[in-house]
Amino acid sequence: MIKMIKLGVHVSIAKGLAGAVDQAHALGCDGFQIFVANPRGWARKPLADNEIELFKNKRKALNLWPVVVHLAYLPNPATDDPELYQKSLLTLAEEFNRANLLEADFFVFHPGKNKARQKGIERVINAVNLVLEKVPGSTLMLFENQAGAGGELAGSLETLRELIAGVGQAQRVGICFDTCHAFAAGYDLSRRQGWERTLEDLKRIIGIEKVKLFHLNDSLGALGSHSDRHQHIGAGNIGLAGFEYLVNHPELNQIPGILETPQKSRDDDLKNLAVLRGLVKS
Ligand SMILES: [Zn+2]
Repeated sequence: MIKMIKLGVHVSIAKGLAGAVDQAHALGCDGFQIFVANPRGWARKPLADNEIELFKNKRKALNLWPVVVHLAYLPNPATDDPELYQKSLLTLAEEFNRANLLEADFFVFHPGKNKARQKGIERVINAVNLVLEKVPGSTLMLFENQAGAGGELAGSLETLRELIAGVGQAQRVGICFDTCHAFAAGYDLSRRQGWERTLEDLKRIIGIEKVKLFHLNDSLGALGSHSDRHQHIGAGNIGLAGFEYLVNHPELNQIPGILETPQKSRDDDLKNLAVLRGLVKS
């Protein structure tokens, strides 16, 4: 029997943290992803203890896995700007700590931007090592691959390997592989041969056991366009065949997937989840 891939979507915390758990459950998700503060601002009010307890209890009662926290958009842990770096470090530490308090399984962040690649890599490694020393807990920190536009560091698996190699507490980090970003960075996930080559690279360069999560998004941009624009599953340039390969592959479908596809209405999430599940061959 095929073990079905675990699927979830990014849900809102507008109705509180527990409200996000309810929303994921109502959508029929196995797991879900959240932000733990306004992703477009720096201000963070503290999480209340009762809010954390309610979240953890509800998540356990509804048996949801995985729970993923995504870092806000503003931090850039690769930057040379001292002020932005300091703010990024504090936010990374604060949000990673929140993820651990919430007993999230994974904490995902984009390595950031720096036109001087090697310098950027050093900055990110330094930030991650400091945060891991400061913040205890069992949540795994995942580097997410990027589309590789304008100074984005992590368009290639080789860069992700360099980042991981610099981390002191290696057992506390892994990667989140975003299908849209990978396709835009030049990994052809629309075809079987492209997937086979990518899987081989994941094994050889990263180690498949380090790939803890997928972000499952179709791509509005073309192969190698470096354009980070997510599209509904099957409606972009990866297309249904690419996702059909993933959800039926005996190694890839052991790794959970979170959708970050466009959300104009709740029906969009329901439809994208149904499309993915419909691709699983019994
Ligand atoms: Zn993503």
